[in-house]
Amino acid sequence: MTKLKVLKFGGTSVGAPERLRQVVKLITTDPQPKIVVLSALSGTTNSLVALGQSWKAADHQLVKHQVEVLYDHYRSFVNELFAQQKNEARNLIDDHFEHMRTLTAVSFNRASNRELLAQGELISTRLFHLLLQESDVESQLIPALEVVSLDENGEPHLEKIRVNLRSFLHDQKSSLFITQGFICRNHEGEIDNLKRGGSDFTASLLGAAVEAEAIEIWTDIDGMHNNDPRIVPNTFPIESLSFDEAAELAYFGAKILHPNTIWPAQKYNIPVKLLNTMVPQAKGTVISGKRSPGSVKAIAAKDGIMAIKIKSSRMLLAYGFLRKIFEIFEHFKVPIDMITTSEVAVSLTIDDDEHLTAIVQALEQYGEVAVDQEMSIVCIVGDLVVDQKGLLNTVFRAIGDKSIRMISYGGSRNNISLLIPTALKSEVLLSLNDTIFKQLVSQKSQ
Ligand code: ADP
Ligand code: ASP
Ligand code: MG
Repeated sequence: MTKLKVLKFGGTSVGAPERLRQVVKLITTDPQPKIVVLSALSGTTNSLVALGQSWKAADHQLVKHQVEVLYDHYRSFVNELFAQQKNEARNLIDDHFEHMRTLTAVSFNRASNRELLAQGELISTRLFHLLLQESDVESQLIPALEVVSLDENGEPHLEKIRVNLRSFLHDQKSSLFITQGFICRNHEGEIDNLKRGGSDFTASLLGAAVEAEAIEIWTDIDGMHNNDPRIVPNTFPIESLSFDEAAELAYFGAKILHPNTIWPAQKYNIPVKLLNTMVPQAKGTVISGKRSPGSVKAIAAKDGIMAIKIKSSRMLLAYGFLRKIFEIFEHFKVPIDMITTSEVAVSLTIDDDEHLTAIVQALEQYGEVAVDQEMSIVCIVGDLVVDQKGLLNTVFRAIGDKSIRMISYGGSRNNISLLIPTALKSEVLLSLNDTIFKQLVSQKSQ
């Protein structure tokens, strides 16, 4: 049997009627069996998050207003998108918005709020399925809520996903399957999600579950760029990345990929391609097991970081001390990103402030604790081998006299991480870009 391909289209790729028509074209150019994962239309999840906040604040007037603004947007969207199936599409929209009005009419609760957030992907996939019908393209809608499940730690349960997905694929005669990104069920059977940007993760989980030939992430840019294009001018797409490099970039802030996208693909050695829906002929980026030693590939930055310092003259590097510290973070299920140690203190970073006060309290039994907030991790990623071509020297030249709070090098061959105040981020990204990539940029533009 021909292997399946998994294609994911992000919010911008499905955010306008002509874009959705373009997606129909893209997925029907060849007969290869496909699973198509869709995000919500661009802006929808943001609107639903804002709606949830007003609901939580019990601002009923604002909730009503926000629902109706979104409803109007969808009414005009389907009017423009459909010809024969207009009524069907209007009914579909009415269904979902009636449900949203009912959900938000009672007092706020977290489970119903997650159900509210799920409406974006539920609507986009139903609309797309209808559009395919209108275009005479046979397809089957797979409910992600019956496929993607989380275990008791909130992690995707790959084995269950595999079994669930297979039952849908075996039942059907179609070779084109449509499903929702982002949404899933938790181990209590409630509607949940894979966190913001999670449709990429859905695509890679489904790709791993069927051991797909490739996972294609279709978005609004021609691949992973060498620096954050929202901050640095003249960035360029990288042709190929290893799984490890891409995982570092995704984890350390390259928004084009959800931080967890890589591991399911890497586990089954499935190439991940990053492609541009608006410019489908562009090469994009291929992420695979292939490595290119000695090269610096890209720089990324992750905001919202807190640095915690624990200072203790008595026990710091004593046997078992770090374990005790780590156990506190484990207890609160908070991952640590960076760590540095000295004879009298250890500093580490986290990106989740939900349990910060409790963590600090627990750490205080072991020493003096200080927290620095509004920090960013800037990460230089590549297959760095050793300090080839004086990369560290180049990095320090770029930093100049700007203050670095922490530095991490040698943890893996793939990254150098710097912790800096967020206020300095743009400046640091620009100057690193100048020193590391200037030559490459001028070569490319010749
Ligand atoms: P989608 O809605 O398709 O999931 P996203 O907005 O999540 O798209 O991701 C694409 C965006 O990621 C790009 O428009 C770009 O602004 C941003 N981005 C940040 N860093 C990078 C990078 N290194 N390379 C490419 N895009 C990046
Ligand atoms: N719609 C969700 C979000 O905006 C998931 C995604 O687009 O990947 O976060
Ligand atoms: Mg995204």
